[in-house]
This record gives sequence, structure tokens and C-alpha cells, in this order.
Amino acid sequence: MTQHPLTPTEKVEQWLASFSETLQTDSPEQAADHFEEGGFWRDLVSMTWNIKTLEGRDEIRSMLATMAKARQPHNWQVSEEATEQNGVLEAWITFETDDAFGKGQLRLRDGKAWTLLTTMQELRDFPEKRKHLRPKGAQHGASKSRKTWLEARQEEERELGYGKQPYCVVIGGGQGGIGLAARLRQLDVPTIVIERNPRPGDSWRNRYKSLCLHDPVWYDHMPYIPFPEHWPVFCPKDKVGDWLEMYTKIMELNYWSSTECTGARFDEDRQEWIVNVVRDGEKVTLRPKQLVLATGMSGIPNIPNIPGMDSFEGEQHHSSKHPGGEAYKGKKCIVLGSNNSAHDICAALWENDADVTMIQRSSTHIIKSDTLMDLALGGLYSEQAVENGITTEKADLTFASLPYRIMPEFHKPVYEQAQEQDADFYNRLRKAGFMLDFGDDGSGLFMKYLRRGSGYYIDVGASELVAQGEIKLNSGVTIERINPRSVTLTDGTELPADLIVYATGFGSMNGWAARIISQEVADKVGKCWGMGSDTTKDPGPWEGELRNMWKPTQQQALWFHGGNLHQSRHYSLYLALQLKARMEGLETPVYGLQTVHHLS
Ligand SMILES: Cc1cc2nc3c(=O)[nH]c(=O)nc-3n(C[C@H](O)[C@H](O)[C@H](O)COP(=O)(O)OP(=O)(O)OC[C@H]3O[C@@H](n4cnc5c(N)ncnc54)[C@H](O)[C@@H]3O)c2cc1C
Repeated sequence: MTQHPLTPTEKVEQWLASFSETLQTDSPEQAADHFEEGGFWRDLVSMTWNIKTLEGRDEIRSMLATMAKARQPHNWQVSEEATEQNGVLEAWITFETDDAFGKGQLRLRDGKAWTLLTTMQELRDFPEKRKHLRPKGAQHGASKSRKTWLEARQEEERELGYGKQPYCVVIGGGQGGIGLAARLRQLDVPTIVIERNPRPGDSWRNRYKSLCLHDPVWYDHMPYIPFPEHWPVFCPKDKVGDWLEMYTKIMELNYWSSTECTGARFDEDRQEWIVNVVRDGEKVTLRPKQLVLATGMSGIPNIPNIPGMDSFEGEQHHSSKHPGGEAYKGKKCIVLGSNNSAHDICAALWENDADVTMIQRSSTHIIKSDTLMDLALGGLYSEQAVENGITTEKADLTFASLPYRIMPEFHKPVYEQAQEQDADFYNRLRKAGFMLDFGDDGSGLFMKYLRRGSGYYIDVGASELVAQGEIKLNSGVTIERINPRSVTLTDGTELPADLIVYATGFGSMNGWAARIISQEVADKVGKCWGMGSDTTKDPGPWEGELRNMWKPTQQQALWFHGGNLHQSRHYSLYLALQLKARMEGLETPVYGLQTVHHLS
């Protein structure tokens, strides 16, 4: 009898069966031998109660030796037909641990795992109440203590934070805080979101007038309620604001707007936070068990200290305070910086007939928005991807399945192709004196974003103005001195100025911990974001995951949440599950808690 060659799915099933069998033995760590010597296991909470990438068999072996018996991973299944391309088998999988259900993705080469992604999706005993478990809404029958939905909701709003303490307080009600609170709501974790602005969505409304999302709609959905099919590809910022306001109401969030958090400290004796807030002018003290800072990566402005700033007779402000171009018709405007905000602001000033000069201090990565869509995002996040059956969840998991160590290798060809395709565009920019880069290693936009959260512009038109000289450019210099009516650059050039905009970026999120909690706690948790790639603004050593984001920190019960819409959507699930598990008293031993290498 001739045996048919194994299908990709059968090959994966064989691997999973053998892997699973080894995991159930007395030496589960030997399952590491199912990986290539340098293979990767990226785990989002399911095995490690952490966000962790294990690199190479030794690290995988150590993790399994510590965690496998407690986590009891089992029931590994292929969830849809596996594929094979260029010698790499790729498969979507499901699995279980003692307390949770998981999903994952596996890549096999020559019978060994090259990459394995495991993610926790749902706690076994605490599923979200949706689909078959959705609430009934109406109470059929007769009851003398009947409360309508509205009465119950109003009572909750009156009580929470006063008669009853929330389990979790989220400081910051931008899209990050809102999305996380929605997930916590679905998991029945009593939560209050503290937001100093009057309305949900104001953090977008308050940004400069011309801003539209730089990322396309398919990348930007919030959890649970995707944007409708008619939603614009690049949503204007005020429309995002309105969506968030609607979302906050529909998802029934306990959202305290016009409320400022003035301070917080961890009460070691009672193992809870004391969070001081001022709500509509009234002081309130909250005592949650968990505190999340969702205060934004773009929150603490970096403003350089330039001699003569005090003497300037014109107007000067950080990009986050820029009102828009209207007021500056005919004015001499200097924009310090050359990343996204700088370009958007320069273009809006130009559209309003201002005389605009961009000061470029160091090189910038530019990628045309259309090119980015075509070459980088379109496969996962586009109408075509939707038609190909790639759901948002699948796209997010695919994105997450690539360990950061090897991600640059996947991105480099994209940016090589972009340089080829848009060679004329790049040449014209260079000719105008613009200093370009594609990341320290040519890996482009997303790696820059992950490593340093800055250093790029997704071109939606301003680059053409720079190339044509409509936006004037002084590059390779900075402002050395500010005079009452001009700026002097480091090469001695003096430029007249009525307005100076500092498009100089934002500080690390642990600056929020310093402001709200203490410098000691900020230092204890260390720098947020970046992964130790030893590239510009992301100093080594290699850490392999974003510092402090969505995972346990060195400060007990303190968490950081944020990132772009895609990251907030995806990683809020894992943060919410970590918080829920703690609330329910599950064992949550953290494997490989990050050590602190940098303070900010
Ligand atoms: C110009 C610009 C363009 C961007 N474009 C995109 C894009 O196209 N796509 C994308 O995904 N991301 C984009 N981003 C990144 C953007 O910052 C985030 O996506 C988003 O705003 C982050 O949401 P967040 O909730 O983490 O932070 P934020 O929106 O910054 O919200 C933080 C909130 O915390 C509140 N807060 C801070 N301190 C306190 C306190 N003590 N008490 C009470 N409230 C407090 C603030 O008022 C604020 O509302 C852009 C950022 C900028 C600056």
C-alpha cells in the first residue's frame, strides 16, 4: 500500500501531538527539543503570566521547567488547514491551560518549530458574557424589587467610587483607557476611568486642527465595535473623538470626565492604591487594588531648553498645543522638528499662507501613505484582506506572531522595495536637502515606532511641499539661540520668526508615574517602550519585548497601557485578563519579570 505524503495540516498535527505528549511527562522541559536550536516562543500571558519572548531552546527549556507543571498546557489542536510556503509550515492552533483557553500560531521548518505564538484568550471559569452567555436584558416574570436597566446603571454610577470601591482605576481616558475599560467591563471588573478632559475623545479633539489618523481604518478598530463599512479610510480627529464618546456610553463605562488625578500611592499594609482625584472641583479618594496608567505616550511634551526662549516676543508652543494654521497667515513660522507632527503642522501653516521653515535636526524616515498601505499593511489590514477572510483578530495575531528579534528581517525588503518604487520622490527630497533614513538597519517605520516611538513621517502630502521648497528647510542644524524676533541656527543662519512650534516629541510614559506617584516609583519601573535593540534612542541590552507595556512591572499592582489604536485594541485583551485573574484570586506567577536597565 502506498502512503500518501502528509498534508501540511497532518504534519502540524504530528508535531503538536509529540509536543503535547512531552509536555505531559515528568520532564516537560524536554519539549524545547521540538524547537529549532534558535527557535522562538512568544507568549502573551498564557504560559508566563507575562508578555515574553523566549529565544532559543535554552530559554524555552527554562521557562517550561518553571511553568509547565503549573500551567498544564494541553489539548493542542490545529484550528484550520495549515499552509506550506517556501519550506515553512504555518498553522493556526488552539490549546488550553489549567485555567484558560488559548489561541496561537506555529511556524515549522524541517519538522522543528521556528516560531510559536501562544496567547490567552479567555479564562476557563470567567468567560465574557457574550454570544450564548449574553444577558437576557428583560426580566421575565414578576418581581417587586424590579429595577430597570437605567435604574441599575444609574445606581452603579452613584455608588462606584463612593459606597463601593472599584477593583481597578485607569488614569487616562483616551482611546487606550477607554478600550481597556470596555474589556474590563465585559469581564465584570469594577473599573473607573479618570479623565481630566470634559468629554471622551477630547484628547483627539484637542490636537491640531488638520490631523487625520495616519493609519487606515482596518488597523484602527476598537474592541467589540468595529467601525462601520462606510467609515473613512483616514478618520479626521474630531470624528475619532465622537466615536470614542459614543463608544464610552454604549459600552457603559464608568468614565469620570473633568476629573484630574492629583496623586497616587501604594498602601503596602492594605495592599491597595490610594488615588486622589478632583472630580468637578470636589476631592475624592479612591482605593483600587490595581492602578493602570493609560496617560498616553504622547502626553509629556519634550520641550528643548534654548537660550533666549524667555526673550522671544512672538508666540511659541509645543506641537501638542498648536491650534492650527489660521491665525498665522503671512507670519514667519519656524517649526523645530521633522517627524509626523512637524510635517502636518508645516503643511497646515502653508495652506494658510504662512511663511514656513522646517528645522530638521536629524534624519527622518519618510514613507508615502499609499506605499505603506500597498507594501506593508495591505496584506493584513485592507479591504482586500477582509475579502480574503483575514479578520482583525487574525491580522493582530499574525502581527504578534513575529518575535521582535526577527521582525526587522521581514520589514527590510518592504522598505527596499519602497525605495525602488518611490526613488524619484526620495531623490527630490534629498535634492531639497532633506536628510532621509530608513531606520538604523533599513527596517523602516514600524520598527522605528517600536524601538523609539518617533523618527518618521507617513507622507500624506507635506513631503511634496518640502521637495518643492514651499516648506523651506534648514537641515542638519538646530536652534542655537532665540532672539526677540528671530532664531539663530547652529550654522549661524538667522531666520526671522513670529511663531516657533516645538515639534520635538514626547517623554517616556514612566514620566507619568513620576508625576502622579513618585520619582522613586518611576525609577523602580524604569523606561517604558523600546526593546533594547541598541539602535538610536533604544539603548541595549536586548530585552525582546516592549518595556513595561501591558504586563507586570517592578511596582506591584501598577500597569502601563497605551500605544496606537492597533496595539491598544490587541494588548488590552491580555492586560484585562491579567487584571481579571488577579481579581478572582487565581494563581498568577509571573515568569521572567523584566529587570530595569534604563530610568527614562
Ligand atoms: C499628532 C499625533 C498623531 C497621531 N496619529 C495616530 C494615528 O494615526 N493612529 C494611531 O493609532 N495613533 C496615533 N497617534 C498616537 C496617539 O497618541 C495614540 O494613538 C492615542 O492618542 C493614544 O491613546 P492613549 O489613550 O494611549 O493616550 P491619549 O490619547 O494621549 O490619552 C491620555 C489621556 O490621559 C489623560 N490624562 C493624563 N494625565 C491625567 C491625569 N493626571 N488625570 C486625568 N487624566 C489624565 C489625558 O487628558 C488624555 O486624555 C498620534 C499621536 C499624535 C500626537
